[in-house]
Amino acid sequence: MRKSIVAGNWKMNMSHVEALNLYKSLSALEESFPSNVEVLVAPPYVYLNELNNIGKGSRVKVIAQNCASNESGAYTGEVSASMLRSIGINSAIVGHSERRHVFGESIREVTEKVLMLLKQNMQVVFCVGEQLSERKGGSHFNVISDQLQSVLSLEPSLFEKIVVAYEPVWAIGTGETASPEQAQEMHSFIRSKLNEVYGKQSNQTRILYGGSVKPNNASEIFGKQDVDGGLVGGASLDASVFAEIIKAAG
Ligand code: PEP
Repeated sequence: MRKSIVAGNWKMNMSHVEALNLYKSLSALEESFPSNVEVLVAPPYVYLNELNNIGKGSRVKVIAQNCASNESGAYTGEVSASMLRSIGINSAIVGHSERRHVFGESIREVTEKVLMLLKQNMQVVFCVGEQLSERKGGSHFNVISDQLQSVLSLEPSLFEKIVVAYEPVWAIGTGETASPEQAQEMHSFIRSKLNEVYGKQSNQTRILYGGSVKPNNASEIFGKQDVDGGLVGGASLDASVFAEIIKAAG
């Protein structure tokens, strides 16, 4: 049995006070979360240390939205995996579509970030997803297959730290979701690719769905066999709405 994960990606939203309030409001609801669901939130870097300290003992774990592809040095504005680890952050999102398509991160750079996090023994929430033109053109399976290469040559003991998030770019922040069947089809494809390399171990890998998950569509999507929870953007910015999504994963 795979334990579901529901992760909230706050992106570049919220003032300091708003972030504190959101974190506290969500933690206050944790008794209502199903016991078989892990809950993660990814606030902007500047709030990580404080929220992680406030959250010690809370079920709402604080993770990073990104990390640098280099270890240290003259990389103005970047934050390394080891810095995150040094303040007690154990997990980060890598390869989010906004990083790939807005900031132009290549597969190679995403792979370097994965390796940086693994070197720090951190969990990686590794995102893949095709653009609308790629789905319409029928190349979506090839696109996902290419993106997956970043995690397909790891030692099995390192691969254990990978959580995959399938996020079709056309469904992120658009209000449009993949149908539960489209999600299951791609999740099953991803698991088959992982299985080719890691065999039975791939049955343990959590594969999250992301793309306009809301309380009214979450249970149907999360109910699919290979969907092990969700990565949620917009709907994670309201504690009670996000809590509904968490409950749907139980
Ligand atoms: C995301 O940014 O990872 C995401 C899935 O966003 P949204 O839920 O707003 O579509």
